[in-house]
This record gives sequence, C-alpha cells and structure tokens, in this order.
Amino acid sequence: MKLIFLGPPGAGKGTVAADVCKKLNIPQISTGDIFRELLKSGTPQANEIKSIIDKGELIPDEMTVQIVKNRLSKDDVKDGYILDGFPRTIPQAEAFDKIEKIDLVINFTVPDDSIIIKRLTERRICKKCGAIYHLTNIPPKTEGKCDKCGGDLYTRGDDEVDAVKNRLIVYKSQTAPLIAYYTEKGLLKDIDASVNPKDTFKQIEKLID
Ligand code: ADP
Ligand code: ZN
Repeated sequence: MKLIFLGPPGAGKGTVAADVCKKLNIPQISTGDIFRELLKSGTPQANEIKSIIDKGELIPDEMTVQIVKNRLSKDDVKDGYILDGFPRTIPQAEAFDKIEKIDLVINFTVPDDSIIIKRLTERRICKKCGAIYHLTNIPPKTEGKCDKCGGDLYTRGDDEVDAVKNRLIVYKSQTAPLIAYYTEKGLLKDIDASVNPKDTFKQIEKLID
C-alpha cells in the first residue's frame, strides 16, 4: 500500500507513521529525516539546507523531488511505503503524480495551532535511533535518555517557537492547498489528529483494513 501522510507540522505524522509502517511492514519515507541525515555531511549543500530548515522554510521543489525519486529506487519499497512530509507543495505533487500512483492520502487535522506549538516546542528526539518523545504526552522513563536505546535526546532547531510559527505559516500557504488537490482526485481521508498517538493510529487502522 502506498500512503501519503499530509498535515501540519506537529500533527504526529512521524510518530504514527512509525507504528503504521511496523504494522504493514513497509518503510517510512520522511523527507525531513532524509534532509536531517544529509546535514551531517557538512558539505556546502548541507549548510544551505540547514539554514532553510532552521528558519522553517521549504527546500526547493526540484531538489526535494529528486531526493524522493532516489529513495524510491531502492528495493524495499516494492510492497509500498508511507510518505511522511512529502509532497508539501502543489508542484511536488504534480511531479510525483508522473512517477507514482498513490492508494490513499491521510489528512491529519488539528483544530488549534496552540496544540501544535505545544507539541513541537516540547518534542524531544533520540540522537541515536530517531525515536520521538514529548515532555508531557510521551515522556521518556529517564530524563534526557531514550527508552529504546539509551541515546541522548535533543530538541530540533526548527522546534524553537519562532521557527514553529513560521512553519505553520508555510504550511497554510504552500501545503494546505494539497487537501483540495487530493480531494478532487478522490484520494483523501481526514482523521482527527488532536488526540493521542494511539487513538490517531486506531483511526488509520480503520481506514486501511
Ligand atoms: P515537520 O513535519 O514536523 O514540519 P519534517 O521533519 O517533515 O517536519 O520537515 C522538517 C523540515 O524539512 C521542513 O520544515 C522543511 O524545511 C524540510 N522539508 C521536509 N520535507 C520537505 C518537502 N517535501 N519539501 C520541502 N521541504 C521539506
Ligand atoms: Zn533511541
């Protein structure tokens, strides 16, 4: 099954995608994770990407599409995948339509920006395995350490409050138009993502079973 997870930053796409991927035994493809991985290379391109991400802006479409194409050339996508964070603009979606046929777009809705701001500014991530925590909703058993692998937890640069506010503006102007785009194609289903990850997961299970 080929799925797209659409929704504002902080909607829980990444957290829930990890669980759905495990259930379906398909890979999670997060463009955000791929870009953060690229940053580690320290090349001039990496520095450019870092400054875009830290401001909460979007990476240029052409480069983003190329990165997704590369990722989809690997063998592990044969039985499907979840795209988490792509496409994020209409030109990205149009380019993607030319190369792939998607089964379902799940639209994570969150009624209130204040929920998003609280989720992101309290988000912590494991440096080693990428597991996602939240200081109030999903606290780690030991402060600052990952339950799964013991790695150190960190706060993403773009989870600082100013970057979060900009990401919301960018989402509304550039990404939200995809809701109409996929609705017209009959591919979009809404879920309520203002609830906890478990209940969000249950709604998705119903849609894919
Ligand atoms: P979130 O969904 O929480 O905003 P992501 O990890 O998906 O975070 O993305 C982090 C950043 O990576 C984005 O703010 C953006 O700068 C960049 N990025 C990720 N996916 C895309 C994309 N499809 N197009 C352009 N930029 C992207
Ligand atoms: Zn970990």
